Amino acid sequence: MSNKSIRIGLCQLNSRDDKEENFQIGQKLIREAKQQDAKIVFFPEAFDYICDSKTATIEKAEPIDGPIITRYRNLAKENQLWLSLGGFHQQSKDKNRILNSHLMINDQGDIVGHYSKIHLFDVQAGSLNIRESDYTQPGSTIISPIETPLGRIALGICYDLRFVEFARFLTSSPTHGAQILTYPSAFTKHTGEAHWEILLRARAIENQCFVIAAAQVGSHTSKRESYGHSMVVDPWGKVLLDMGLEYPSVRTVDLDLERIREVRDRMPILEHRRQDLYSLTSPTNMSIRIDSKDDEKISWGQLQITAGQVFFRSRLSMALVNRKPVVPGHILVSPIRCVERFSQLTSEEIDDLFLSTQLIAKRIEDFFQGKSLSIAIQDGEYAGQTVKHVHVHILPRVPGDFEDNDTIYHELAHHDKKQKDWRQEQEMIDEAKTLRKLFYSDKQ
Ligand code: AMP
Repeated sequence: MSNKSIRIGLCQLNSRDDKEENFQIGQKLIREAKQQDAKIVFFPEAFDYICDSKTATIEKAEPIDGPIITRYRNLAKENQLWLSLGGFHQQSKDKNRILNSHLMINDQGDIVGHYSKIHLFDVQAGSLNIRESDYTQPGSTIISPIETPLGRIALGICYDLRFVEFARFLTSSPTHGAQILTYPSAFTKHTGEAHWEILLRARAIENQCFVIAAAQVGSHTSKRESYGHSMVVDPWGKVLLDMGLEYPSVRTVDLDLERIREVRDRMPILEHRRQDLYSLTSPTNMSIRIDSKDDEKISWGQLQITAGQVFFRSRLSMALVNRKPVVPGHILVSPIRCVERFSQLTSEEIDDLFLSTQLIAKRIEDFFQGKSLSIAIQDGEYAGQTVKHVHVHILPRVPGDFEDNDTIYHELAHHDKKQKDWRQEQEMIDEAKTLRKLFYSDKQ
């Protein structure tokens, strides 16, 4: 094991309908993994239970602060290791359906990632006709990859493995993209035999990342049988671990993130993508962490702004507070890449810029108690553009703001020319701190 490697534990289970029995097995495997010095342990989908009927499946579900997750959080803390708990049956507000949720728990026992499966398995699998949506509510958000000691880990579940765009969306940002894709699963024997290894290796090869998939194995009920073969694949597509049909068991494997760089340096697929010709964006959960320090300088066209003015960041866009707002709440959204004219943006940047604008505009309007919005781009010198970097102006409007001859566009074109009323840096940083709270729940 190189000194950069991290040891992970992969658990293969045969969950039954007895929650307590399943937990006792899970606990034993975590302790074994700890003895083998694993830092992160991965559990398969439905590690809490698998039962025959839809009614029982719904009845046994628990909330996230219920006993099952609390006990696993305690185990993470006691053993000082991270846990990926793939696919537990989470009670939802809808009494007739559950959520299938994957949690990431850190070594302090805190929940640091929570993803609910977005693609549901409504499929004819061999002789089985499975309709997951009859008892499961689909999730509505893709979760940004989570920083862990192993690198940035993206959370998926089972059937998500078949959706190429989902994986690529999670891996595509060079700075914030996933280095590890996870697919905790209960693949059926029928689909597993035909597709499991091929899909896992394909996702690893095309995204040049590690893929970790803890799986269920064997018969669970009279109807349901899982394929097993919990697997870890490296960024070249090499299978590092295949657990075959053994269960219940934990096996460890050492992963070295350096391997990703080696593969990507030689064949930079992510850079070679024709982002001008096709795009990949999600309207949900666009905000990603702002890593820079407040006093760091960022180029913005011909200007330098301070990072503290930035209150929102997505994969390809950022939003900043204005030096001289025309109305309270007048802010700016720009692509991160410096581009002077609108026509020079790639389709992916346009998607991201407009989806970011939509998200930000709504929250800014509410926060400043506006009743309408002016949203504008001054594209080029003679349209009043002074900053040579595409930016969308967002201005919350209040009743009485708008006259017959609205002067706002005229004002926009001229307001910043005189230094009079330029705000101090600290005032802008303070405003950005307040606005960050609209997008980030932590102390960002
Ligand atoms: P435009 O005239 O359409 O290019 O818009 C430029 C906008 O950027 C104006 O609303 C200015 O008030 C704003 N602006 C100029 N310099 C800064 C700066 N250093 N920080 C924040 N906003 C700025």
